[in-house]
Amino acid sequence: MYDENNIFAKILRKEIPCDKVHEDEFSLFFNDISPQARIHVLGIPKFPCTTFSDYLKNADNENISSFFRSVQFVIDKLKIEEYGYRLITNSGEDGGQEVPHFHIHILAGEKIGKLR
Ligand code: AMP
Repeated sequence: MYDENNIFAKILRKEIPCDKVHEDEFSLFFNDISPQARIHVLGIPKFPCTTFSDYLKNADNENISSFFRSVQFVIDKLKIEEYGYRLITNSGEDGGQEVPHFHIHILAGEKIGKLR
């Protein structure tokens, strides 16, 4: 069940501000408020979905392909492809997800290190 009051839903409704990196019809990208690397951007679809699986199962193909192409657009905008980056999406309790609106973390700008 999607919680309309989660913080990213509020950001999408512009009830609270964000440090925007990119926005288009289907997606919004902004800097993480508590960065875990020199570059730490979050990408969210403008679609009410809790997790990656919820998004892939319920959004249409145009929405999904546009969102993932926008992830690449932001990678190009940030000029991080050459040195590398890490994409993460945490899902559910075991995945360590805190905000229940599907999002992708884009981490870059330094060596990110091992996952554990
Ligand atoms: P996750 O644990 O995958 O759900 O990640 C949630 C992320 O959202 C964390 O990295 C937080 O630092 C980040 N975050 C929480 N609130 C905000 C906010 N208002 N603006 C930007 N990032 C946020």
